[in-house]
Amino acid sequence: MEFWGNEQFTFFESILFSALGKPVDVLETQFLSGGNINTAARVFSTEGVFFIKWNQSDGHLEQDMFETEARGLDLLRQTHTFPIPEVISFGQFQDKSYLILEYIDFGKRPKNYWETLAQRLASLHAHTQPQFGLHFDNYIGSLTQANPLTHNGYDFFFEQRLLPQAGLALYKELLSKQTYDALLRLRNQLPNLLPNEQPALLHGDLWSGNVLVNEDGFPVLIDPAVYYGFREAELAFTKLFAGFDERFYDAYDEAFPLVSGFNERVAIYNLYPLLVHVNLFGSGYVSGVERILKQF
Ligand code: ADP
Repeated sequence: MEFWGNEQFTFFESILFSALGKPVDVLETQFLSGGNINTAARVFSTEGVFFIKWNQSDGHLEQDMFETEARGLDLLRQTHTFPIPEVISFGQFQDKSYLILEYIDFGKRPKNYWETLAQRLASLHAHTQPQFGLHFDNYIGSLTQANPLTHNGYDFFFEQRLLPQAGLALYKELLSKQTYDALLRLRNQLPNLLPNEQPALLHGDLWSGNVLVNEDGFPVLIDPAVYYGFREAELAFTKLFAGFDERFYDAYDEAFPLVSGFNERVAIYNLYPLLVHVNLFGSGYVSGVERILKQF
């Protein structure tokens, strides 16, 4: 997927030219690690510094992936809750899809970092609409995330989150029929297990790698998979790979109190990201899914 030398400079200069409408010289590039799916670079140019990521659109990855990411970033920015990188452009150049964003210079976490992150997230989650879902579909990793507008939050969580991922895992023979059936049995229990909350605007893929710290010490959200869903699902996801301080959960609960017993519900919400991980990264995550289903 990576390419070097002149070809790389031509690519950056061509897409920056289309984005800015004037000739741009690329001065220096630094490749960034961290992304699982795409290749990313910090690009220094005569018009400033940009964050550019791209992938080979050879049919394996959908071409509108970066467009939906850009729309998600724009939606988050409109809430004025977090600084969000500006979208400079996205598009297609020869066999590559690309996304150009404002480059975020990294700073240090100030003392009240976790409290700020929690309060801003609570404000984001206070954004609601009558239905779960979103007016466009997007992706979670490289997998389709369908967001049809749905009145019932349990139906949305089950039919649009758990079921499609479980079905895919079954089809790929990563999940047994027995586990799939156990998941189907969970459906009717959901209203007894999870609180019936308002649809909340979620980042949708909130793990620590998707929260940058800018030069002012503010948390910046990147790489969203936005939709209106249960806000507890977002908080549960932050616990999947840890990395969020206890102060974060306390401050969130203070800003937007959770229904008691949240910790006992975390595993149910995390069936979704776990199933996504099964489909993206393989059977290593299946035992986690099975363990949760045995509990309920
Ligand atoms: P992927 O979509 O492949 O997961 P990411 O969006 O996570 O890629 O970006 C890859 C790396 O680049 C991450 O380590 C992240 O820290 C960094 N990064 C992402 N967006 C920006 C940005 N706007 N400015 C600076 N660094 C960024």
